[in-house]
Amino acid sequence: MTERVGTEPSVFTRILRGEIPSEIVLQTDDVFVIRDIAPQAPIHLLVIPKTDAYADVTELADGDPGLLASMVRTARTAAAQAGATDFRLVFNTGTGAGQTVFHVHAHVLASAASPIGERTMTLGMPDGEEA
Ligand code: 5GP
Repeated sequence: MTERVGTEPSVFTRILRGEIPSEIVLQTDDVFVIRDIAPQAPIHLLVIPKTDAYADVTELADGDPGLLASMVRTARTAAAQAGATDFRLVFNTGTGAGQTVFHVHAHVLASAASPIGERTMTLGMPDGEEA
């Protein structure tokens, strides 16, 4: 696992190390999945690379596009495991977009009961608009 030198470990790295309790619901060699502690949808998972070398998805796309693809595939598997075939995949990027943890992660948002396309769930944006 690659970690940034000279910075504090992220909350997600600390979860991966077992220093902060959180059930890892799925993992591969390079990615792990937990439930968000403050869910914004009936299914709200976080897909997180084991490395904390990338602060956001733009850094990851430039530095390791294969790992980004791995995150997307794992999101699909995790959503299906939770009972959803359709899901919203969100990468908050920058504080102005609501990013609070600078260890890249994808939010998997879904409702097992009713399709997201019918707008049964909305995702709040920082300025109060809906996505
Ligand atoms: P961001 O705001 O950076 O896009 O997403 C960070 C997410 O991490 C938030 O939705 C927040 O609820 C979640 N989170 C922060 N700390 C913890 C934690 O200790 N455990 C879990 N399971 N989720 C966390």
